[in-house]
Amino acid sequence: MSGYASEPARYDAIVVGAGVGGLYAIYRLRKLGFKVRAFEAGGGVGGTWYWNRYPGCRCDVESMEYSYSFSDELQQEWRWPERYGTQPEILRYINHVADRFDLRRDIEFNTRVKEAAFDSKTNRWTVKTDKGSTAAAPFCIMATGNLSTPRTPNYPGLESFKGKWYHTGLWPHEGVDFSGLRVGVIGTGSSGVQSIPIIATQAKHLYVFQRTANFSLPARNAPLDPDKERAHKARYPERRRAAFDTPCGIAGYPPPIKSAVDAGEEERRGAYEAKWAEGGSISFLYSFTDLLVNKESNETASEFVRQKIRATVKDPRTAELLCANDHPIGTKRLILDTDYYETYNRDNVTLVDIRNKPITEITPAGLRTADADYALDAIVFATGFDAMTGAMKEIDIHTDAGMSIREKWVDGPRTYLGIMIAGLPNLFMITGPQSPGVKSQMILACEQHVDWIADCIQYLRERGLSRIEAEADAEDAWVRHNNEVADGTLYPLANSWYVGANIPGKPRIFMPYVGGVAAYKKKCDEVAASGYRGFRLGADVAEDRFAAN
Ligand SMILES: Cc1cc2nc3c(=O)[nH]c(=O)nc-3n(C[C@H](O)[C@H](O)[C@H](O)COP(=O)(O)OP(=O)(O)OC[C@H]3O[C@@H](n4cnc5c(N)ncnc54)[C@H](O)[C@@H]3O)c2cc1C
Repeated sequence: MSGYASEPARYDAIVVGAGVGGLYAIYRLRKLGFKVRAFEAGGGVGGTWYWNRYPGCRCDVESMEYSYSFSDELQQEWRWPERYGTQPEILRYINHVADRFDLRRDIEFNTRVKEAAFDSKTNRWTVKTDKGSTAAAPFCIMATGNLSTPRTPNYPGLESFKGKWYHTGLWPHEGVDFSGLRVGVIGTGSSGVQSIPIIATQAKHLYVFQRTANFSLPARNAPLDPDKERAHKARYPERRRAAFDTPCGIAGYPPPIKSAVDAGEEERRGAYEAKWAEGGSISFLYSFTDLLVNKESNETASEFVRQKIRATVKDPRTAELLCANDHPIGTKRLILDTDYYETYNRDNVTLVDIRNKPITEITPAGLRTADADYALDAIVFATGFDAMTGAMKEIDIHTDAGMSIREKWVDGPRTYLGIMIAGLPNLFMITGPQSPGVKSQMILACEQHVDWIADCIQYLRERGLSRIEAEADAEDAWVRHNNEVADGTLYPLANSWYVGANIPGKPRIFMPYVGGVAAYKKKCDEVAASGYRGFRLGADVAEDRFAAN
């Protein structure tokens, strides 16, 4: 990197992103005495929960779980009003954390990192921002998020649209009032499914443009039962530890013991009905042992949900369109909803199939499909994100040895443990591809990675080392293992954002690690305990080691 007007400010670690991962990284590294600088493109903390302010946005992991575990005082004192936190509530919580632990003073807001360059002579990363500022540190931690790069489809004519358009992942802070408007929502993934029932109550008419039907289950959200809350809090640290011994990082769901095909029809139905009534996705997928590995078993669960849709939606044609039949249930992110299917019984809601009659253009007056024109006052793109690799590839990450992330990942991500990348020394990712991140309770996943990274940097410091880099062989083996594990499941059968299928031209590769949180954490712990097997450690340059010391 060259051409800076002045010498970059020097730190021990740079953190990019101030969502739940970045904030905890600041907290943890500061505790170790490191001088940290964080950069955040948004105007505040919270990441996902700062940007996604669309109506109905809430988490689909119960809030008693979806929260930080690093401070027992925090988890005991914070009170979640409902079973699943709403976006405003979660954002309030994250702001509380930032204030309580005084994290803001190390963050430069409204500042996007555009470039990160490693100089092997000094062992130093230098980042450059869109504000023209620079900062340098031996370690750079990418807490840039898996679902933080919103993507709007490239339909011709969008600039000619006379109404207003929005992306759910970049929602206006002041909110949007759809009262009396003709609204089109494009996309029926999680953001679409959460927002559609609410937009329908405001809009004069709502058109939902669906390319792919997804499975959705009832959330059964409710005020948090004070007795349950007390019981949960009484065993909080124990439950948090237990979460690491589970596949998804969430404790409290007894593992199933029987295959769906070994159960009789009545037993199966009873199990699914109970889970349907209870609400939640993990509980449903835990009905039987093999729903994600055996197609025949999975079909029993998929068909149960289709029958529920047919029983709920009065118009049989609409019901059939809403029935997902191109992927096994659970192989795409399983959605939780409140009154989603019921919404299609409203007179002011129309489901439009754009699988067979695609959108051809946005017109000044609305939207055109292959067979009709729709007059619209507002369009909502609920079209998701360039998931898992998008935010990293938006940054020009490179080294003086000629390694660049964009070239390295041209055929899909390659990482060791989803934490580091061969050829990019001292650069860590929080919940990077090929880690269980998006297939788990993500605050737990962020905490696990940050702890691992902080321990690693501490290990280096104690030994006078200044450099760590994933070995190419270890990375190859991890990528291979990742693919083998995925191939033993039904996940690769779905055209999901897990394989980049929502982004035209993106290479198809299964990105999350689906071997489960327990197996993954064990592997990470073993690697650390062995003195970081699979990583090359070095003391190449002493001069720059720890600015704060
Ligand atoms: C609508 C929605 C609902 C979700 N619900 C759940 C749920 O119920 N349970 C669950 O476990 N997970 C859920 N997730 C996943 C969620 O992303 C994670 O739970 C978690 O918030 C991720 O935190 P993070 O810090 O890793 O990333 P993010 O929250 O995405 O934060 C990354 C931050 O990095 C910033 N950034 C990115 N690139 C740059 C750059 N170049 N320069 C500066 N800043 C940059 C972004 O602005 C962003 O603020 C949901 C995601 C979405 C979108």
